[in-house]
Amino acid sequence: MKPQVEIYDTTLRDGSQGEGINFSVADKLRIAEKLDAFGVHYIEGGWPGSNPKDIEFYAQARRRKFKNARLAAFGSTRKKGVPVESDDQVRLLLEAETPVVTIFGKTSMLHVKEVLRCTPDENLAMIGDTVRFLKDHDKFVIYDAEHCFDGYKLDPEYALATWQAAEKAGADFIVLCDTNGGCLPDEIAAITKVAVSKLNCKVGIHTHDDIGLGVANALASLAAGAVHVQGTINGYGERTGNCNLTSVIPCIAFKLKKSCVPAKSLPKLKELSQFVDEIANMRHSPRQPWVGSSAFAHKGGAHVNAVQKLTTSYEHIDPALVGNRRTVLISDLAGRSNIVIKAQELGFKITNDTPELKAILNRVKELENQGYEYEAAEGSLALLIGKTLRHRKVPFTVETYHVSMRRDSRESICEATVHIRVGKTVHHEVAEGDGPVNALDGALRAALARSFPRLKKVTLTDYKVRILDSGTGTAAKTRVLIQSSDGQHEWGTVGVNENIIEASLQALADSMEYALLRK
Ligand SMILES: [Zn+2]
Repeated sequence: MKPQVEIYDTTLRDGSQGEGINFSVADKLRIAEKLDAFGVHYIEGGWPGSNPKDIEFYAQARRRKFKNARLAAFGSTRKKGVPVESDDQVRLLLEAETPVVTIFGKTSMLHVKEVLRCTPDENLAMIGDTVRFLKDHDKFVIYDAEHCFDGYKLDPEYALATWQAAEKAGADFIVLCDTNGGCLPDEIAAITKVAVSKLNCKVGIHTHDDIGLGVANALASLAAGAVHVQGTINGYGERTGNCNLTSVIPCIAFKLKKSCVPAKSLPKLKELSQFVDEIANMRHSPRQPWVGSSAFAHKGGAHVNAVQKLTTSYEHIDPALVGNRRTVLISDLAGRSNIVIKAQELGFKITNDTPELKAILNRVKELENQGYEYEAAEGSLALLIGKTLRHRKVPFTVETYHVSMRRDSRESICEATVHIRVGKTVHHEVAEGDGPVNALDGALRAALARSFPRLKKVTLTDYKVRILDSGTGTAAKTRVLIQSSDGQHEWGTVGVNENIIEASLQALADSMEYALLRK
C-alpha cells in the first residue's frame, strides 16, 4: 500500500553539512542500510559534484540491494551559459546510477539577480533543461525549489514560473524549500496551498530549524496538501539543522494519523536515532522530543504520583510506541512515589506502605540539600536505599588513605595508598597515577580486587566535577559524579565534600560497592 506521506532522508547530504558531523564512506553505507531497514522511502546519499567521497559512496552503494528505499543523488541545475549535456556536475549525477535524482534550482528573483547573476529567463531555462535532460535519461526527478517561500513572498509570479518550468519539463515532485528556515507555519501553509492548487505534480516540503519551527513548518505544509517530507535523523544540518525526522515521523503517524514508514518500524525510532548519533560520534541529546532519555522522565512529586495512577496524566503518548521508556528522577522535588518507582526499578521490594519509605525520602532530601544529586547517580541511590532497608551488610570499608603529589624538573607524580577492611582482613595497596584521583582509583581497585577479583572488570568511564555554592571560592563544596561500567552495564555514583579528593573517594567507593551489589 502506498504511504500517505513519503519520507525523504537527507542525513547523508544536508545532515552532513551540520557543524561537527563528518561521515566516512563506510559510515554513510551503514547509515543508509539502517535507514533502508527502517523503511524511509528515499535516501539522499550526497552530492557527487561536490566531492570525491560522495562519488565513492554511490560507486559502493550501487552494489548493494536496498529493500525499501530508493537512492537519490543530489545536485543543482546546469550552470548558466553551458548546455546541459556538457555540464560536468550534471554528468556526475547520471554517473551515480541512482534511480532518483534530486536537483535544486532558484525560486527567488533576488538570488537570480544577485547570486546567479543571470536573466530571469535564463534561470527558467536552466531549470527546464536540467529536468528534461534527466527525464530523458529515465530518472525519477525531484525538483527542490530553493528559497521557495522567501522567493514567493518577494515575487509570487516569478516563483510560480520556476515551479512550472520544472513541472513542464517532467519533474515528478516539486519540493518547496524553506532554505533559510525563517518562515512561520501560516506562511508555509498558505504558499503550499498555492503550489498544490497551481501544480499538477505532487508537492513536498523541505524545512530548516533556524527559528525552532522546522518540524512545525513541515507539518503545516503537510496539512496544506504536501505529501512528501524531507529531513534528517536527529535534525542534523546547516546552522541549527534541518527538519528532524525523529520528531516529524511520529508526529505524522500518531498526531496526524497518516501512514508514512511501516508501522512495525515506529518502535525502533529511538534505536535509529541513537545509532546515527553513535556513528556521527555525537552525544544523544536527552531533551530530544520523542526519543530523548528525558522525553518521558518525571521529576516533580505530584507528576510522579499521578503517573503512577494513570500514565496518560502527564504523558502525551505511550513511550513504548517509539521505543522509549518512562523514567522517574530522584531529586529534592521528589515525593514518595518517585522513591517507590525508582526503588522498584533498582530491584528493591518496596511499596507505598513500606515503613522505611519516609526515612529514605528524608535522607535523600537531606543529602540533596548538602549538594548530592541522585538523578545521574543511581548506584549511590541504590546503596542508600539498601542501607535504610537494612537489606545487606557493608562489604568493605576504607580504613585510611593517603594521597601525595611531588614534582621534579621533568614530571609530576601522584601516589595513593589505601587500607581496606574486608571482614577481618586488611588489604594495603599503593598506586601511582596521572593525577590524584587516578592514583586513588588504582590503589582502591587493586586493594579490593584481592578480595573481589571481579572488580578488575569495572572501569571508570566518565568523571565530572561541579563546584557548588561557588561564592565561597576555594572553600566551596565539590560534587563529583562518576560513571562506571563492567562492560555490560553502566552506573553513576556521587560524592560531595569540601575536598575534591574526599568527594572522589566517596564516589569511587560507592561505585565499587554498587558493582558488588549488582552481582
Ligand atoms: Zn536544506
